[in-house]
Amino acid sequence: MKLLQDKVALVTGGSRGIGAAIAQRLAEQGASVAFTYLSSEEKAKKIEAGLAANGVKAKAYKSDAGNYAEAEALVGAVLADFGGLDILINNAGITRDNLMLRMSEEQWDEVIQTNLKSVFNLTKHALRPMMKNRGGSIINLSSIVGVTGNAGQANYAASKAGIIGFSKSIAKEMGSRNIRCNVIAPGFIETDMTGELDEKTKEAYLTNIPMKRLGKAGEVADVCVFLGSDMSGYISGQVISVCGALNC
Ligand code: NAP
Repeated sequence: MKLLQDKVALVTGGSRGIGAAIAQRLAEQGASVAFTYLSSEEKAKKIEAGLAANGVKAKAYKSDAGNYAEAEALVGAVLADFGGLDILINNAGITRDNLMLRMSEEQWDEVIQTNLKSVFNLTKHALRPMMKNRGGSIINLSSIVGVTGNAGQANYAASKAGIIGFSKSIAKEMGSRNIRCNVIAPGFIETDMTGELDEKTKEAYLTNIPMKRLGKAGEVADVCVFLGSDMSGYISGQVISVCGALNC
């Protein structure tokens, strides 16, 4: 028996990086997977086909996670297509790095909208179907930067810290309904997002990581399998770091 057999999962930002790895691991464990993308249509279609090869239902949806109305329509479409929703993974995220003195209002707003408002948007619309199902698991992707802060990332760190407070509140509000809400705080994971960093910055990060390597997207995805499954049935309101001991 697979760990997520017969469960339905929705992953935002599943067309690349960590989200794509999450979608893959969930499908390998028997979950039907709905996932979103914003612009990577071709990649999303390939991933959709790859997921279905695991013998599960899989569908890609173009949907801006930061847009309230689109999030509402998305959850409605997933319920119509899949018949329920057991696991929500709020993964979509962006960076618009700049030192505070140079950060524009637009850079602040874009990051808060995509990284934090998206989590409100999707959670808000996923709760009713989860209540109807008498349970659910919400997993929100924060970052160790949301705990430690990082020069040049005040917007990103604020959005990721906000996710932690939001998730702990949802865990408390929804505990009696058997809806769990947890946070994953990755360190530096090899994806397009960290691929943008120059070699010098990467070297500096590596020096500080006790395990002396960047993490792999699959290593974050494995924690999603655990948090989405009944193996974590009494775990809620927690922040799990996946960071090679960087934040301990
Ligand atoms: P990534 O490689 O840049 O991929 C981002 C994904 O989010 C893509 O699928 C992208 O879709 C999607 N996306 C962006 N804006 C969206 C929107 N408004 N609506 C829907 N989807 C949207 O990022 P990643 O490195 O995998 O990061 C995934 C999550 O982990 C993010 O929340 C990030 O902050 C967090 N995280 C990453 C690291 C790291 O080291 N990589 C560390 C800590 C936390 P398109 O392909 O269509 O653009």
